Amino acid sequence: MAVFSAPAFDAHEHVAFRFDPETGLKAIISVHNTNLGPAVGGCRMWPYENDALALEDALRLSRGMTYKSALANLPFGGGKAVIIGDSRKDKSPDLLLAMGRFVDSLGGLYVVAEDVGTTVEDMDILAQVTKHVACTSEGSGNPSPYTAMGVFEGLRAAVGHKLRSNAGLEGIHVAVQGLGQVGFALAQQLHDAGAKLTVADISKDAVTRAADELGAVPVEPNSIHAVAADVFSPCALGAVLNDRSIGQLQAGIVAGAANNQLAEDRHGAALAARGILYAPDYAINAGGIIEIAFKGEGDEAKMEDHVRAIHDTLTDLFQRADAEHLPTNVIADNMARERFMMAA
Ligand code: NAD
Repeated sequence: MAVFSAPAFDAHEHVAFRFDPETGLKAIISVHNTNLGPAVGGCRMWPYENDALALEDALRLSRGMTYKSALANLPFGGGKAVIIGDSRKDKSPDLLLAMGRFVDSLGGLYVVAEDVGTTVEDMDILAQVTKHVACTSEGSGNPSPYTAMGVFEGLRAAVGHKLRSNAGLEGIHVAVQGLGQVGFALAQQLHDAGAKLTVADISKDAVTRAADELGAVPVEPNSIHAVAADVFSPCALGAVLNDRSIGQLQAGIVAGAANNQLAEDRHGAALAARGILYAPDYAINAGGIIEIAFKGEGDEAKMEDHVRAIHDTLTDLFQRADAEHLPTNVIADNMARERFMMAA
């Protein structure tokens, strides 16, 4: 299996592999860059078809964390861990303890958090054998409320930049895709700010609740991206901005929580070519990682200020994209790279 010539390899500092014969643990920890601080990122447990796909995911996701933390002005580098296995069948306390020892063996180079296939309770188990854990039930817990707060601020910045200079949301029409932990909290904040909501979710209960509590208008999940709204807010799936959907968008702004919204990087340019302002996903959804950074300090107000600063980061980013005539996703990468490269 290629490492240095793997497609997602990008000058990663450290990639470690661990097999534990007693528990069957097969895991990879990928540390992309630690110029700004320890590499923080989630531990994903997924039944990868083969080892190369697991490595690819670890390399790609750890790189993404470097950019996300740098753009959010956090003293963190980027890392990610993957456990190869089915979290519903293969996870056991012993396997998690073995993973904790693996994390510990890196001596703090990597700090682990929950991700797809792992939970806050799993992090409590890892914390029995390593102190390099974020997101335990005693530390920072569910980050979704802060993610929603940051997305709200980023959406406000986008509206302020493209539609109104006073940045108010009264009467602004937002189409929210996905009413889960982040999407519903965001919809509540938008409703409180006077926005008009159209929503979709594959869960009928979530849609009914949004209609009852927030006066939201439901549409079918397969048409939410094409609603004639001011803002399309993807808060469910990745790759929603693709060759098919971009031509169907009617909103002038895309600003939502979902990770990896662009199917490919070139779709950032496709949005710009249509005059659609895109709030880059890792810039707008950084509230959760900001919570991890500040929770230990116990200063809630300072943490909220940092989350709310996503508004100004995005305003800077949009202005720079206009000045340099480049897509916003390219500017986000450039701004993040400048920060972590300058810290070298
Ligand atoms: P969640 O699982 O709580 O919610 C996702 C919602 O999307 C669910 O209600 C689900 O029914 C709905 N959904 C799934 N497929 C759909 C479809 N085709 N159309 C419409 N709705 C659909 O997840 P979450 O924690 O709210 O996260 C939402 C997104 O934000 C994810 O992409 C996640 O990776 C990203 N994100 C979340 C956080 C966080 O703090 N939770 C942080 C950063 C990024």
